[in-house]
This record gives sequence, C-alpha cells and structure tokens, in this order.
Amino acid sequence: MGAQIIDGKSIAADIRRDLKGRVDGLREQGIIPGLTVILVGDDPASQTYVRSKQRTSGEVGINSNVIELPKDTSQSELITLINDLNQDDKVHGILVQLPLPGHLDTDAVIRAINPAKDVDGFHPTNVGNLWAGLDGGFAPCTPSGIMELLHRSEIEPSGLNAVVMGRSNIVGKPMAGLLLKANATVTICHSRTQGLEDHLRQADILVVAIGRARFVKADWIKPGAVVIDVGMNRVDGKLCGDVDEGARDVAGYITPVPGGVGPMTIAQLLVNTVIAAERTLLL
Ligand code: NAP
Repeated sequence: MGAQIIDGKSIAADIRRDLKGRVDGLREQGIIPGLTVILVGDDPASQTYVRSKQRTSGEVGINSNVIELPKDTSQSELITLINDLNQDDKVHGILVQLPLPGHLDTDAVIRAINPAKDVDGFHPTNVGNLWAGLDGGFAPCTPSGIMELLHRSEIEPSGLNAVVMGRSNIVGKPMAGLLLKANATVTICHSRTQGLEDHLRQADILVVAIGRARFVKADWIKPGAVVIDVGMNRVDGKLCGDVDEGARDVAGYITPVPGGVGPMTIAQLLVNTVIAAERTLLL
C-alpha cells in the first residue's frame, strides 16, 4: 500500500479560506491587515516570490505593499525605511526578501525589524521565544506551515521520534524547535552527522530540508513514517524534492514536491500577518 499523500495545495487553500473570515472580522473593527515586503535588487527568483506573496495576500484581503529598492541601496537607507515601517500603524507585518545584496548586513537588517512585525520569524527575539517555548512570537513560515500540515492531517508529534535533516535558520533549526515544543523527541542531522541512515530509520516523523535532489532513499525510511520533503531542486527543468520517489512505497504519509510544503509557506506568512494585526487589538 502506498503512502497517504499530504496535499499541501488543498490544505493551503483551506487556510486561505479560514483567513479570509478572520480578515473580514478585523476589517469590521476598522483594521486592515497590512504586509510590507521590501525587495532590494533585481534577483528574478526573489521577484517571483514577492509577486506571489503580494497576489496571495490580496486574495485574502490583506493590504500588501511591495517596496522595491535599487541593488546599491545603502545599509542606512534600508534601516531608515524599516524604522519608518516600524512606526507605521497601518503596517502589521514587515518582510525583507532574502538574500540581500552582498554589501548589506543581513543580521543587522533583521534586528532592525520590530519583533512584533517580524512575520518571517527571523528576529533573534522571535528565535529566542521559539526555543524558550514561549507563545506570542512568530516562527518562520516554512516550519510553521509544516506543523499546520501535520495538525490538519491529524498527526500528533507528542512522544514520537522526529528527525530533522538540515540545520538552516530558515527551516531545519526552527523546525526542530517547533517539534520539540510539540513534545516530539527531536534529532537534528546535518552534513557532518555520522551514521545518518541509522538516525533516519528511527524517525516516526522525518523532515528533510537539505537541498539535495532525491538524496534520501526508500530503505532509510521506517515503514509507516511521516515524511515531509522540504527540498525544492530543479533536475532537467523539473522540480523535485530531497526524498526519492520510492519512499512513497514505504512511508505512511508523504508530502509531494511540488504541492506539499511549498504552498504552505506563503499561507503561513499570511497567517502570521493576520495574527500580527489581531494582536494590535490587545494592546
Ligand atoms: P541550506 O541553508 O542550504 O541548508 C541545508 C542544510 O542541509 C544544512 O544544514 C546542511 O548541513 C544540510 N545538508 C546538506 N547536505 C547534507 C547531507 N548530504 N547530509 C545531511 N545534511 C546535509 O538550505 P535551506 O534554506 O534550509 O533549504 C533546504 C531545502 O529546502 C532547499 O531545497 C530549499 O530550496 C528548500 N526550501 C523550500 C521551502 C519551501 O517553501 N518549500 C522553503 C525554504 C527552503 P550543514 O549545516 O552541515 O552544512
């Protein structure tokens, strides 16, 4: 029997539908959730992501604004803009599209964002909140979206062995933090891990985020495991994940690429923006 496919596209559509209702509720109270995306330079992949964020925001009624800056924008110009947006009550979420051009200090730029508006969840205050198990912050969108996929597929991580492959600040580390917060027993594997396959075979939930096409083989997977494939790799012009297709014959649940984790990332960005707007009602 093949694995049950976790349909991220359809779950993301459900989330957007739910969000629309929350946005309507906010609008009735005079609050229009606002997301400002700052794009520095003309990287085509970043432009595509930003356009997609703007379009999807509009669909749920979020007021999204893209500020495009030339690639030679200085650090102080960018920080001044962020300071202005921090002060602007109409802006609930601020996102600086990464990567930034090399002359800019990404860490300093992220630190400049008010953590209450840091809908990407990259500010050290939000990273700290996540690892301290505190509510009230924001976790990065891709791992938050994965937690939502698990939740909506009725997969409860508590007590399970979760293995996260990859330790980036965007996916692997916050993923591990969220699974730990959900009471999983968490192992993080990376490029220096010894006995990688043995670790993977212990996983009831396996999240793979390494950016290596079809790297994880079917016989490294525990029969019946939940496999979340974050990878987005282009091979011969086609998108594929970090997990080999044969895993579908072994896993209990699996996310497809495309159509699994990908659609959840933007959906979660919208969720975080709406949460940021809702929190202003509590101030
Ligand atoms: P990244 O910053 O390049 O990090 C990759 C991680 O994988 C690193 O921690 C690296 O270990 C580890 N790694 C690489 N090769 C490995 C190996 N052979 N064995 C074990 N670990 C290995 O990548 P990322 O930003 O986290 O993204 C990972 C993948 O997810 C990419 O394909 C990316 O396109 C995709 N992604 C998808 C979404 C989405 O919305 N679907 C969002 C973000 C990322 P070291 O730390 O030891 O180098």
